[in-house]
Amino acid sequence: MKNINFENCICEVCNTNNNINRIVVSRGNSKAGLMIIGEAPGAKEEEIGKPFVGRSGKLPDKLLQSAGIDINLDVYFCNVVKCRPPENRRPTKTEIQENLPWLYQQIRLVDPNIVVLLGATAIKAILKNKAPISLIRGKWINWQGRLVMPLFHPSYLLRNPSNGVGTPMTLTQLDFLKIKEKIDLLE
Ligand code: URA
Repeated sequence: MKNINFENCICEVCNTNNNINRIVVSRGNSKAGLMIIGEAPGAKEEEIGKPFVGRSGKLPDKLLQSAGIDINLDVYFCNVVKCRPPENRRPTKTEIQENLPWLYQQIRLVDPNIVVLLGATAIKAILKNKAPISLIRGKWINWQGRLVMPLFHPSYLLRNPSNGVGTPMTLTQLDFLKIKEKIDLLE
């Protein structure tokens, strides 16, 4: 994938509708074997122009690093929706539909072996699966020739930070270890 600088791009659709203008496309290595897909940028992401740099955004970095995954080399981060929804609301169905062709194009270009879906928006957008996350998280799913794993969204983990046995945080730490094992296996 070419390195294109989107830093000062304006989204005409969002700018007219929502008063939002910075498009947040990606962070990390565009040749990585692991793609992490979140929901949409927050205020910090919009300010900096990169996904997963705000409060809940930094948690995946920590979990990846604790599992021994190199966040600069092994990972490409992006979101389903490229512009921040106002007041950090969930993206609407229309916004998701409008952004999906772009996300599919990112997946084709980066061509990762492994795709991790953080939270319900990413899971529904890619897998069209409405099953509760608690039932499908941490499971490998075959999707168009790629290995996909749904995980809890980082903002849910921040609201449930306890580290006890069987808590969302502990389960997610174990999920990232499974992902690291798979990366090593596929190398
Ligand atoms: N930051 C992002 O870029 N995406 C999310 O889904 C959450 C935080």
